[in-house]
Amino acid sequence: MSDWLVTTVISDVHHSASARSLRLALPDEVEARPGQHIDIRLTAEDGYSTARTYSLSDARETRTLEVTVERAWDGEVSPYLVDMVEVGEPLEVTRPHGGWFTWDSSDPSPVQLIGGGSGLVPLISMIRCREVFAPQTPFSLIYSLRSPDRLLFDDDLRQLTEHRRLPIHLAYTRTAPPDSSRPAGRLSTEELAEFSIAPERDPTVYICGPNQFVEHCAAAIIAAGHAPERVRTERFG
Ligand SMILES: Cc1cc2nc3c(=O)[nH]c(=O)nc-3n(C[C@H](O)[C@H](O)[C@H](O)COP(=O)(O)OP(=O)(O)OC[C@H]3O[C@@H](n4cnc5c(N)ncnc54)[C@H](O)[C@@H]3O)c2cc1C
Repeated sequence: MSDWLVTTVISDVHHSASARSLRLALPDEVEARPGQHIDIRLTAEDGYSTARTYSLSDARETRTLEVTVERAWDGEVSPYLVDMVEVGEPLEVTRPHGGWFTWDSSDPSPVQLIGGGSGLVPLISMIRCREVFAPQTPFSLIYSLRSPDRLLFDDDLRQLTEHRRLPIHLAYTRTAPPDSSRPAGRLSTEELAEFSIAPERDPTVYICGPNQFVEHCAAAIIAAGHAPERVRTERFG
């Protein structure tokens, strides 16, 4: 059985009409690794309770954690986290868990990140940790999203681009911004090969997003010459 910690929501960021980050203050110190997730449990007045898993979008501190939730319109938990819970209110969570889809800042290998939609969440946690703990480790990001209004972590990505800290390839699947040279459409196999770190440099590849996105990208990246054991995936379902 999980041990539930009672945290307090201490701040939030609205990324879009459908996505919000929540920073949670922990009752004691907790070590977390970038790529890990927590479960969040909601309990109704009649005692009914349900829990969902959310990746950490920030694992740098030991007294706070951040999660970032994209609303499933007819979902049970995410609408509450995006629209209803207020700063100052409590939230029950587990300690961070998950071991395979994590990045170790002492590993000097280059890192190729590939995220679809809210699959960017654990990847931004890796990027944020890299900036603090291993700023020389080469990182590269391919980020697929539906349309410009669904962009997550706009400020982080803009800063990283401005300071040439991270090559970013954005792929809009439904609507591209007017100034984009890439027409809207799904990431192609050729594009994934062209914009990812070359297999000869032996990067660790992290792919996260919906099932089909992860399957497509993993197959493409292996076809491009990356060793399957260097490819780590996480599916949000
Ligand atoms: C490892 C991991 C990490 C994750 N990290 C994140 C994250 O960082 N950010 C994030 O936003 N999400 C993340 N998720 C997804 C998250 O856990 C939830 O699945 C998501 O928020 C939807 O939950 P919900 O309660 O709002 O929707 P749910 O109530 O679970 O419903 C989800 C969808 O399924 C449909 N559905 C529900 N029940 C049925 C049924 N019986 N038959 C058919 N359809 C049904 C609903 O209509 C809805 O469209 C992660 C998932 C995993 C596994």
